[in-house]
Amino acid sequence: MEIFIISFCVWMFCGIVSAMVGAKKGEGCLGFILGMFLGPFGILFALLSKGNRKTCPFCKEMIHQDASVCSHCRSAIEKMLEVRCPTCGERGQVRASLLGDCIECPKCETVFSAPGRSSRSSSPNA
Ligand SMILES: [Zn+2]
Ligand SMILES: [Zn+2]
Repeated sequence: MEIFIISFCVWMFCGIVSAMVGAKKGEGCLGFILGMFLGPFGILFALLSKGNRKTCPFCKEMIHQDASVCSHCRSAIEKMLEVRCPTCGERGQVRASLLGDCIECPKCETVFSAPGRSSRSSSPNA
């Protein structure tokens, strides 16, 4: 029965470690679940996962995915939005400022207009 108790403790430990790793990336709960289910592999997952963070292109610090201003160097970050090619369904990320413009799909080379941002028609000189 001892082996059961030991492995249970190890699993609990893995859950806690994964939760701590995940918490740094804003995904503490997910990290804990990963650790509980996958044990040591969960920790690995949590370590490799970028979570909902991204790297600031200016200072290389981890910042929140939706941040428009870096909390470390105060640089303005352009928001990346997910678009989907209407032809082949390939997903890609474009800068928010490109929405409404024509985007070329890297996979099938179809040129399509990214949805959203209809503000282009209501320019200041209108
Ligand atoms: Zn920064
Ligand atoms: Zn495509």
